[in-house]
Amino acid sequence: MRIDELIARRTEPLFSFEFFPPQTQEGERKLFEAVAALRELEPAFVSVTKTGSSTQTDTIDLVKRINTEQGIEAAAHITCAGATRAALARSLEELASTGLENVLALRGDPPAGADAFTATDDGFSHAAELVALIASGYAGLCPIAACYPDTHPEAADRDIDMFHLRAKVDAGARVLITNLFFSNEAFFDFVTRAREAGIDVPIVPGIMPITSASQIERFTAMGGITIPPRLRAALEARADSPDAVQDLGVAYATLQCAELLAAGVPGIHFYTLNRSPATRAILSALKLLRPWDDPARPPRETVAGNQ
Ligand code: FAD
Repeated sequence: MRIDELIARRTEPLFSFEFFPPQTQEGERKLFEAVAALRELEPAFVSVTKTGSSTQTDTIDLVKRINTEQGIEAAAHITCAGATRAALARSLEELASTGLENVLALRGDPPAGADAFTATDDGFSHAAELVALIASGYAGLCPIAACYPDTHPEAADRDIDMFHLRAKVDAGARVLITNLFFSNEAFFDFVTRAREAGIDVPIVPGIMPITSASQIERFTAMGGITIPPRLRAALEARADSPDAVQDLGVAYATLQCAELLAAGVPGIHFYTLNRSPATRAILSALKLLRPWDDPARPPRETVAGNQ
């Protein structure tokens, strides 16, 4: 089912998991192990990225397999990087013809080593163009797009980034999923500004449990993501203990999600990095705690919106 419709009909928050295409047979075995382990937590959908070292066909084949073998709604990430309009149209036709209903429409990152994104000849420069193609030609597909609580690193400032986000929604994006972030205040502020800018589609927070200090340093530096000073200090204090970093990562993400859910977010999208234990621990605790039921904390109107 389309995610925009699932969100509109939900009686409880929806949870989703993101995976990436593995490069080896062992990686593939681990991916399907993680999908099977997380399936028990009843995700609304899972999504599969398109990475620099995999093809768009790899992504589409994986979502088809996850959907048929595991019976889970699965969304493909389609990126403009390296693709002509004709190739993008072929990918969309293939998805539509298999009955899959959700697509993450992305520009994609510049290739490793390149400073800037360059559109392919007869390709797209911005995700909004891909969103418009989906919205105009593939009525059965729900276009989902990316957004950035800490502002996209290439944007001159946050207002310009919001202006372009509004254009992406006007082009037809029906749901937004955020990049990972570690400051809920930054998320709440972002949602307030999005609503003020006239963006009324559901905004789903994307959460990545920290499992490695060096990896999170890399991701946050690349994506311009702020690590709150107290979290940074706690990570530094555990620099010599990978286990302690993982424990902190699970605890921090659980508290972060609990506050977001109490505020009324439509759901949480987990960046799993193809591993199940951290996401399983966090989501299991949240399902026991049910922070979305807390009568002492009425949902924030801008966060829950009317979606
Ligand atoms: P856009 O919406 O095109 O925005 C990119 C930049 O261009 C922003 O700074 C924006 O402000 C600016 N901009 C937008 N429109 C215009 C315009 N008309 N004129 C001038 N500037 C404009 N990457 C992958 O390679 N594969 C994936 O599978 C993938 N999945 C992701 C999933 C999620 C949920 C998220 C949050 C990100 C994902 N990414 C993925 C990363 C994403 O591709 C990069 O962050 C990329 O740099 C931007 O993609 P976008 O779709 O947000 O681009």
